[in-house]
Amino acid sequence: MSFRVGSGHDSHRLAQGRPLILGGVTIPHTRGLVGHSDADAVLHAVTDALLGAVGLGDIGDAYPDTDPRYLGADSRVFLVETLAKLNQLGWRVVNLDVTVFAQEPKLGPVKAAIRDNLASLLGVPTNCVNVKAKTGEKVGHIGRGEAIATHAVVLLKKLSTDYAEDAD
Ligand code: MG
Repeated sequence: MSFRVGSGHDSHRLAQGRPLILGGVTIPHTRGLVGHSDADAVLHAVTDALLGAVGLGDIGDAYPDTDPRYLGADSRVFLVETLAKLNQLGWRVVNLDVTVFAQEPKLGPVKAAIRDNLASLLGVPTNCVNVKAKTGEKVGHIGRGEAIATHAVVLLKKLSTDYAEDAD
């Protein structure tokens, strides 16, 4: 059995006139995240963690924000396509740990929904996914409510001891 760990980070600016989507869950709020796609900072960080674990670069390589195909894209597609690539290479998700940094809105009431949705998208039991919410302590761009950021760590396993083969 081989294991790989990956980490991902993402942040997006908050602005009026956009829906707020985190982990594929639409959250009622006066402002949403700005980006080329739906700007789901949680799914982008998780996708980057998956790509990082297997040495496949980053989400910007795979889904460039200059590509009109991804304008307004549903970020669930990025995650599901990336997971399919990893599964084809023999990798399976062991667990995912996510921290979301948001001064507002309060994420306590939606943490469980985000967790359930991430587990569903990854095809793992809910207890293999954890979602933590932090504020920005009212300082910096997060604390002033100007942006939301996410950090994600994922562990993958593969039924192989051949690391040279894994590199493919
Ligand atoms: Mg992003």
